[in-house]
Amino acid sequence: MTDASENPRKATWKVEAAVAGCLGLVVFAAWWFFLREPKRFNVVLISIDSLRYDHVGCYGYPKPTTPAIDALAARGARFATAHSTTSWTLPSHMALMTGRPNDVHGVVVDFASLDRKRTMLAEAFLRAGYDTAGAYGGLYLDAHFGFDRGFRSYVNCGVPVTPSNAAKAEHDSHRIVTAPRTTAFAEEYLGKRNPDKPFFLFLHHWDVHYDYIAPKEYVDRFTAGYRGDLDVANFYFNDAIRADMAAEDLAYVKGCYDAEIRFVDDHLSRLFAKLDALGLTDDTYVVVTADHGEEFFDHGNKGHRLNLHEETLRIPLVFAGPGIRPSVIENGVRLIDVMPTLLDLCGLPPEPDCIGESLAPLLRGEDVSALRDLPIIAELTYLPKVQNDEGEWVTADAYDKHIATSTQRWKLIEVQSREYDLREAPLDFSGAETQPARFSLYDLGSDPTERTDRAATDAARLDLLQRRHVDVLVEHARRAQQMETTGGAPQPLPMSDHMQEIAAQNGYLQPVPSATKKKPRKPKSSATDPPTAPQNGQDPKSDKDSADK
Ligand SMILES: [Zn+2]
Repeated sequence: MTDASENPRKATWKVEAAVAGCLGLVVFAAWWFFLREPKRFNVVLISIDSLRYDHVGCYGYPKPTTPAIDALAARGARFATAHSTTSWTLPSHMALMTGRPNDVHGVVVDFASLDRKRTMLAEAFLRAGYDTAGAYGGLYLDAHFGFDRGFRSYVNCGVPVTPSNAAKAEHDSHRIVTAPRTTAFAEEYLGKRNPDKPFFLFLHHWDVHYDYIAPKEYVDRFTAGYRGDLDVANFYFNDAIRADMAAEDLAYVKGCYDAEIRFVDDHLSRLFAKLDALGLTDDTYVVVTADHGEEFFDHGNKGHRLNLHEETLRIPLVFAGPGIRPSVIENGVRLIDVMPTLLDLCGLPPEPDCIGESLAPLLRGEDVSALRDLPIIAELTYLPKVQNDEGEWVTADAYDKHIATSTQRWKLIEVQSREYDLREAPLDFSGAETQPARFSLYDLGSDPTERTDRAATDAARLDLLQRRHVDVLVEHARRAQQMETTGGAPQPLPMSDHMQEIAAQNGYLQPVPSATKKKPRKPKSSATDPPTAPQNGQDPKSDKDSADK
């Protein structure tokens, strides 16, 4: 028994200890509630190459192509109308990873790469203390273009590529299966990751990109009843796959495409099961999207990288994770919004040069007026091949620049044709116009598949869209010019003479640099072409006019 009267010094010590204990509890409570680092969530970003939005179940496709993506959308949010920045792999992934449209990130041809000064998504996560890992299956995601920046581990699950084997690698890449390797990489990474760090994991799935060569059981499932003998191998150069092919053969081609989608989706099921098994699902944002869609002669072509119609521009976009309400969000959004959204969801600061907007408020169920009418713009720099005097197929002295601007309802497509000098200034796209710009106008509300061009019959609407088009281009040019540029840097988008007249009318004093007249050149030898992969999906035999028929 203790007695303070018997030992005053001991009693005083006890009082001091009690006070110290209470103070300790108060300090701990303050740390717990105010000072401790907020919980940091993980991110898995999945890009499925060439996945057309309307072949995804939760976007209304009736065939069972995507049960895993559909389940993700059911517990998360699906953006009903999302657009890429172009219709091919390299610039769209650059937009995804930088939050910038093509005319600002500047990587619009095969032989460009991202300016070292620009920050990529993985770099932002790495800087914030995340562990980062990525795997890709297609050549255009190679480190050569800058896509490895910020990844502690960045793995090629496709065909190995070097400058000397680029053409063969591009050819071979269409004939390999990558989803098993990509998924195995992800599973191994998740199993061995540092549990004390949040992670950012990026996966690029390549198999949906042609050729459509899913395992036989998948093909059989989606082509049951087909009695023809069409071979879909060598898709792009296969003359049997053409606009006037028999309907049942075209249905078979689409069935093979669907089989690839299901094949990849089954690998997503494996990945999502792994996240569940590791107890990571509740702490991880999962995003599924695509870099562009695919055309099955909707506008006369097959594949992609030939025009900017909706079948190649619209993409699926699904978010799931902590705090995201199950919903379908109708706002028109862009691929460039993914980066700022992920940074925002994870509590990281926005990148100053990002043009995309954070969609996090929409994912939390807030109605934000600033996100109701985001300017949607897409770009395609199309370098046709021509035959020179020796019969070689070489890059032409002119190129087409396609630019599409959309509102929720209306869409304007401009096609400029300009002189181009590959040898003297390969990244200079400000050559003089070779003919006046051509415009087409579509009412996506009543004509979502763009069957009727209204440019000639709705002059007032055309003028309205052209003015909006100029506003967006001028704003992007202004942002691009704010960035210090070198090498493969962003360049102000050359505006057609017609658009420059509108820009002057709208009071823009210095909209964009004027085009510089250049001497016409003869076609160049293929020996002068840059030692990089050929253009994805571009037929070297196609003429310049085939781009937008
Ligand atoms: Zn692609």
